[in-house]
Amino acid sequence: MSMPNRQFLGLRGLTLIFVLLAVLATLAICLIVAYSVQRDALISSTLESNRVYASKVASSIGEFLRSAQDRLQFSSQRVASHFDEPAVLKDEVIRLQAQDAELDVVMILDRQGKVMAMNPEVPGMVGSTLIASEVKQALTLHQPLVSHAYTSATGQLIVFISRPVVGPDGQFLGLMGGSVHLQEHGVMHGLISDHAYNDGTYAFIADSNHRLLYHPDHAQIGQVITNSPTMNTALQGQSGMLAAPNYQGIPMLAGYAYVPEAGWAVVAQQPEAQALAPLRRLMREMLLKIVPAGVLGLLLILAGTFLITRPLRQLARIASDLSAPETPRQLAAVRGWYAEAGAIRQALLKGVQLLHKQMGHLHQVALSDPLTGLANRRAMDAALADFEQSGQPYAALALDIDHFKRVNDVHGHDAGDRALQQIAQLIQNASRAIDLACRAGGEEFVLLLPDTGLETATQVAERIRQSIANTPVEGVGALTISIGVACKDADTVTSADMLKRADERLYVAKQTGRNRVVAASPA
Ligand code: GH3
Ligand code: MG
Ligand code: MG
Repeated sequence: MSMPNRQFLGLRGLTLIFVLLAVLATLAICLIVAYSVQRDALISSTLESNRVYASKVASSIGEFLRSAQDRLQFSSQRVASHFDEPAVLKDEVIRLQAQDAELDVVMILDRQGKVMAMNPEVPGMVGSTLIASEVKQALTLHQPLVSHAYTSATGQLIVFISRPVVGPDGQFLGLMGGSVHLQEHGVMHGLISDHAYNDGTYAFIADSNHRLLYHPDHAQIGQVITNSPTMNTALQGQSGMLAAPNYQGIPMLAGYAYVPEAGWAVVAQQPEAQALAPLRRLMREMLLKIVPAGVLGLLLILAGTFLITRPLRQLARIASDLSAPETPRQLAAVRGWYAEAGAIRQALLKGVQLLHKQMGHLHQVALSDPLTGLANRRAMDAALADFEQSGQPYAALALDIDHFKRVNDVHGHDAGDRALQQIAQLIQNASRAIDLACRAGGEEFVLLLPDTGLETATQVAERIRQSIANTPVEGVGALTISIGVACKDADTVTSADMLKRADERLYVAKQTGRNRVVAASPA
């Protein structure tokens, strides 16, 4: 009895699943590797370009400050010997301011910080004394100076750049100074926008007090930012690059530089998300290009799986009923186009042929009498049933060896067996290929003769009787046989009727002296 097949997945399904998983895993790994390589490359190139950006801005600022200092120096020399001539001082501030538009205000202070001249002039300022600590520092140090950002007497956020004015005899006279107004998008804005980018990258400048001197969001200018790691590093005098969150916690890719002329920091940065935006585009494009190739690959895999599993599926189906008579033909029709399928088909074919041969042999054994090799009772019954079912005409001979008991008694059982074998052979020899000679039991035989009338059957019976009577059994001598003949007619409808009729006539043959054929019923 065959067990029901509980496996849901066939070889095809399994192969497909494994291949699919392998392909998807490979694809995922490829995408992840591509993503991380591209990401690293984008990050390092962004960092590098921001580093370059910051250092360019820093050097522009340095250059601007140096040239402003140079011009202040030139002017301070011009006014040094005319420090007590207000008209000269006034002319010089006008000249310098016109020459250097990047300085929003130019002024000359005496050694106490009193404004001697300024341009453009603010009413009430000339003659007043400036008290800002940044101015006082310059007055005390007697050195060229760039101040922190601070709020001036006029209420503006400024940076003050100054040179000492030294008289012909070497004494300190005061300051030649210029201020840059930070909130008026003047010089700083110009310096930064020279290097402007439009990909979200921006730069800002801070002084050593962490105060913003420039920021693209102008509202931020003047704010003090202490928690920007990038700005803090730059203010320590360093230049470089850093991936770090800005003061608002947004991850940034930043370059930074130090402006040694003023102790300022320049930071150029781009939000990391914005820097990586092309990466997402790239990944999308990659996916879009991979998908059609993937679909094509899957179709190929599908076709390949189908082709590979087809012979195995066919073989499995055929193997579920190897005993079926059409199995060898079906096996031969399977196309085992690769080694394993071919080998399995060949092995199955061999096995099936052997099975069929053995089944045939068993069938033969089951239907034949072991001693004589004639058909046994079972085969006889089957043949009679066939005759009965098909209604085919036939004749039946009932044969019984005469006084066989004596053979056993006189010559022994083995001699009896030999006699049975020889007589069986003689019955077989006397019959046609289509006739069925049966050992009905003991020393009784039945011969079935298809499509045979009573007369012919009687002749056959007579021929058998004579051949047995004329053929002595070795060591036993001549034996005789009695035969009853019956032929299918209107009175013998069933096979049982036929056997009964033949037996009755055999009985008559025995009664009437044995060694004879009786074909007609006693009147
Ligand atoms: P009759 O002429 O009336 O038929 O006499 P008979 O002795 O042949 O009749 P009976 O039926 O009394 O005896 C049949 C004998 O056949 C009995 C049995 O010993 C013998 N016999 C039956 N089967 C075999 C067998 O397979 N081998 C041998 N050696 N003897 C068998
Ligand atoms: Mg008998
Ligand atoms: Mg007998």
